[in-house]
Amino acid sequence: MIKPDAVQDGNSGAILKMIEEAGFRIVALKKTQLSSERAGQFYEVHKERPFYGDLCRYMSSGPIFAAILEKDNAVADFRKLIGATNPTNAEEGTIRKKFAKSIEANAVHGSDSDENAEIEGSFFFSRFERF
Ligand code: GDP
Repeated sequence: MIKPDAVQDGNSGAILKMIEEAGFRIVALKKTQLSSERAGQFYEVHKERPFYGDLCRYMSSGPIFAAILEKDNAVADFRKLIGATNPTNAEEGTIRKKFAKSIEANAVHGSDSDENAEIEGSFFFSRFERF
């Protein structure tokens, strides 16, 4: 997902370019806006965390791009490409180092396992839209 801050700042194209140059194939891509409720469902695993309310507000504050990406070792390689959650800790050359504004408004989301990639892909796309 390209998050609201990055879309708002006009960085979507540059981020998609970095993703493609890193060898990912964009299987599906959609611009949409989450309601606060939908954002809450997406981040349900964080619902006990103190930042959950802020995260839902931020994630529903503007349009996002949702994408399904394909590559060998995609989950680990994408986590490497996006960098640490807190951009202060993100390595040079990562998407978050380049575009994230804060630990919350950190430009992109990446699934943390193959299983969650399947769940999160289905959150935004039907099988028909994917293929
Ligand atoms: P990720 O897998 O690197 O995206 O990180 P997490 O799964 O730990 O957190 C999900 C998202 O919640 C992050 O990408 C941030 O947008 C937000 N987030 C994480 N930690 C914090 C925090 O301490 N404060 C705030 N405000 N947001 C946070």
